[in-house]
Amino acid sequence: MKTYDVIVVGLGGMGSAACAQAARRGARVLGLERFTPAHDRGSSHGETRIIRRAYFEHPDYVPLLHEAYRLWDELAEASGRPLFSRCGLLMIGAPGGEVISGVQRAAQEHRLAIDALDAAALRARYGMIRPAPGMMGLYEADAGFLRVEECVRAHLAQAAARGAELRFGCAVREWRRMGDGSVEVTADGERFAAEALIVTAGPWTASLLPAWAGRLEVRRKVQLWFACADDRYSAATGFPAFCADTSDGFYYGFPSIRPGEIKIAEHSGRQAVSDADSLDRNVDAADTARVARFVTEFLPGVSPRVQRHSVCMYTMSPDGQFVVDSPADCANVHVACGFSGHGFKFATVIGDELAARALGGGSRESMEFLRASRFAC
Ligand SMILES: Cc1cc2nc3c(=O)[nH]c(=O)nc-3n(C[C@H](O)[C@H](O)[C@H](O)COP(=O)(O)OP(=O)(O)OC[C@H]3O[C@@H](n4cnc5c(N)ncnc54)[C@H](O)[C@@H]3O)c2cc1C
Repeated sequence: MKTYDVIVVGLGGMGSAACAQAARRGARVLGLERFTPAHDRGSSHGETRIIRRAYFEHPDYVPLLHEAYRLWDELAEASGRPLFSRCGLLMIGAPGGEVISGVQRAAQEHRLAIDALDAAALRARYGMIRPAPGMMGLYEADAGFLRVEECVRAHLAQAAARGAELRFGCAVREWRRMGDGSVEVTADGERFAAEALIVTAGPWTASLLPAWAGRLEVRRKVQLWFACADDRYSAATGFPAFCADTSDGFYYGFPSIRPGEIKIAEHSGRQAVSDADSLDRNVDAADTARVARFVTEFLPGVSPRVQRHSVCMYTMSPDGQFVVDSPADCANVHVACGFSGHGFKFATVIGDELAARALGGGSRESMEFLRASRFAC
């Protein structure tokens, strides 16, 4: 049986980063992925992901975001690819609402530069959007978007260049701890052993860790590209990424990066998926109606006609925060899951943390709030 220092199961957003970081530490790394590199079956596809620092979800994420930003910049430079576009982000919501107050609190606690725009300033600066009356905006210039598949590819390329062995089309069926404490993994009839195991299986985590299944809910999410011939929404003319916390749901979008189309989607809403393998990837009128209505009301220069779509999955934890921990009695098994629809921007720092834990390096105290022990078993 071939042996390694660490085996990484699942090479999507998090696993690709973990492989690159473990290989950077000089470890013998095996990465196992059931599909192809940067595929569109899991949670890390659809061209773009928002990245921002003024985090309304929980201010404890901000120190991690500082590290994530630094590592994304390093990756972009090493890859020579424009992975991270700092086009700015406009957060729109009701003054005093959960989102606006959360951004303001994170910005204040961590001294982040944010421009506050009241309804009149918002109208004056962004004539191409039409927020509901009374809404305000918070603009974060250092935010923007990551090119999601390119980021995964860049991490995989870095891992391979540093000597990691990466296998695709290779599904892990089971893993177990051996008497000597090492871990044995069975994938497509072959067995591998390692001192440590990293599980970054996204929406399939529960199949490898049944004990955690009750804590995770997989949701179907639809990404839509609408017809748009109006240059005012283009990245080239300075249109930012945006989030809009409306009375009817939480929507987000990106500047147009390809002529004739713009990506807009809904973050809120709950369509539970019982089996990630049988996800419905078709889209019908029920999937598009709410976002099309938001487009009509909020983006007057964008057509509500959907040009294309891509279906993706969120893996929700009970409190919407990530889970980065080890299962009971398996201190050398490190799991990162439950990214709850906002994890990609952290992939660099999560990958680095997983590699450090697996290879005996120091673990960040700043990630303690992501321990699974915060949930009752
Ligand atoms: C529509 C949508 C929009 C989002 N928007 C944002 C955003 O704007 N900003 C942001 O920060 N985050 C966002 N997210 C969340 C973010 O994309 C995810 O949190 C992140 O991509 C999760 O990465 P992952 O590695 O956990 O999962 P994945 O990328 O799905 O990786 C898991 C991998 O494990 C593999 N795998 C599973 N089981 C096995 C097995 N048994 N054997 C081998 N391989 C296996 C899978 O094939 C897959 O490649 C969004 C998510 C979605 C779906």
